[in-house]
Amino acid sequence: EDLYGVKRWGAGYFSIGEHGNIQISPNHRKPDVYIDMAEVLAEMEAEGIQFPAVIRFHDILRSQVEILNETFRDTIETAGYEGEYVGVYPIKVNQMREVVEEIMDAGEPYNYGLEAGSKPELMAVMAYNENPDALTILNGYKDEDYLTMALLGRHLGRKMIVVVEKFSELEMLVRLSKKYKVDPMIGLRSKMMVRSTGKWSSSSGDRAKFGLSIAEIVNAMEYLKQHDMLHCAKLLHFHIGSQISDIRKVKEAITEGARLYAKMVQMGMPLEYLDIGGGLGIDYDGSSTTTDSSRNYSTDEYVADVVYGVKQICDLEKVAHPNLVSESGRAITAHHSLVVTNVVGEINPGATDFDITVEEGEHVLVSNMRELVGANDLHPQERFNDAAAYKQSAYEAFKLGILSIREMAKIDTMYWLVLTEIHQKLDEETRQIQELEELEDTLASQYLANMSIFQSAADTWAIGQLLPIVPLTRLHEKPEVRVSIADITCDSDGKIGKYIENNSISDNIPMHRLQRGESYPIGMFLTGAYQDVMGDMHNLFGRLTEVHIFSHDDEPGAFYIEEIVPGHSAEKVLETMQYNTDYMAKMVKKAIDKQIRKGNLAPREGVRWTDFYERCLAGSTYLRYDKKA
Ligand code: PLP
Repeated sequence: EDLYGVKRWGAGYFSIGEHGNIQISPNHRKPDVYIDMAEVLAEMEAEGIQFPAVIRFHDILRSQVEILNETFRDTIETAGYEGEYVGVYPIKVNQMREVVEEIMDAGEPYNYGLEAGSKPELMAVMAYNENPDALTILNGYKDEDYLTMALLGRHLGRKMIVVVEKFSELEMLVRLSKKYKVDPMIGLRSKMMVRSTGKWSSSSGDRAKFGLSIAEIVNAMEYLKQHDMLHCAKLLHFHIGSQISDIRKVKEAITEGARLYAKMVQMGMPLEYLDIGGGLGIDYDGSSTTTDSSRNYSTDEYVADVVYGVKQICDLEKVAHPNLVSESGRAITAHHSLVVTNVVGEINPGATDFDITVEEGEHVLVSNMRELVGANDLHPQERFNDAAAYKQSAYEAFKLGILSIREMAKIDTMYWLVLTEIHQKLDEETRQIQELEELEDTLASQYLANMSIFQSAADTWAIGQLLPIVPLTRLHEKPEVRVSIADITCDSDGKIGKYIENNSISDNIPMHRLQRGESYPIGMFLTGAYQDVMGDMHNLFGRLTEVHIFSHDDEPGAFYIEEIVPGHSAEKVLETMQYNTDYMAKMVKKAIDKQIRKGNLAPREGVRWTDFYERCLAGSTYLRYDKKA
């Protein structure tokens, strides 16, 4: 039974192995070769790597690059399409150097290129896309330096296409290319009329942030003609938003974009490329439907709709088939990384041990609540109503000074006991009563995960994005408890609110009971797109340690840790906030020395405390729990 839907969202890369561990099949060409997650965790432990950590499966990155490029190639061939596919990877989705290098390496046979959306990203793509046959697409708002850098790229013989987002950029580009005596390759971004579904739908429509209106596109052509630069117009670009959940929106966008492309060519623009942007979705919740966290189509279907859609319109309009460019980032990177961490504690409102035996002269509210304990003959709803009413009255009485703190503690303890008993006795019929059904959530524990949602899963907090969370081991054991997952930031928002369970979305998730002395490792999956790089420094937790895994080609299931990138130390994150950690260490040492001089601390002890402070500065920002539940 696949309670957590691993197979559904795992896209062939993740499943549950026979020993109840997550297993990874990172190479799409070898679907029956698995890496056992328990072995990965053991290797990490042997290397002294602490939780939380990001694990990157580089073979998954390569697989995704190959799948996208080969699907386009095959479909183009089958369709008799006359252009080529020359995709680019938008580095904003994950700018990690190792990720970009791996993608470029895997994409080389396909002349797969890069996309940049800002000046620093442009600097990176200048250095990392040396292939003269691959495109470099330059999006985002631009200044003189940005455009001049693109012209440098032209001097270096690169296919750098500046995508004009607003008209003034075109004027600046024309002026600079005259100054530097080099022809730019120009793309025009169109504001699309089709509106996508989901969380990124504002990327199109009249009020979209980027792109030219149709009138501006016509003006751009006149402007280029006036400056004798019409031959530089090479590409039409559009992007209707990320994570397009409904394939019909893709079809609509292709129809609109291809028609516009054809009309621009007929008008006299010598375009060669049609760039359809990003948007290829990921099935995060495994439902294959149009929820915000899923999509109702496959990569094959997406590619077919693009290729056949553009072909049909260009044939009708008697315009040569353009080379196709797409800027898929999410689809390339989402699967390849996950955050692994351990549960370091449990918060359960009803778990406190407190003596509830009868005491002489106790308040009547205490004895009233006690009568409900074990009163299994009472109708559950009546029992629930009484317990809630007694608890409310008890709080009022406590506030007025009528109940003692011990009495209040007893009432609280008994209240949770009664709720637990009611919940255990619910049957088919009483479970239908809403208040009683909600007891499931009320009684759910919170498992404290050693991580920061703000650092590692920003979109779950910011826009309610769903990411699968699964115990990494013990998956052959039936989970006994329902919990929600909270992080270790001091922010009540630092929680996961939605979970995948049995092909639907729950407010809490079944997990195993924690066992003393044993670590309970959990994984947050599909974090490779955006989540890896968008995190913030809330509470100064900083970046996680990273483990880069490669599989051995000749030994099925074997892998090696190719690189360990240490996470931020406390020192490092403090320095980003302008602290001078040498000065801090000096100040703490001075305070310790003062206590030594006063005779309050032995010199030897003082040295130990000084060392301890310095060790913590150099140490991890996350909790240092190992084998503890
Ligand atoms: N291209 C542009 C212009 C974008 O704005 C984005 C992201 O929204 C992308 C490409 C990447 O999109 P995705 O991650 O959906 O593939």
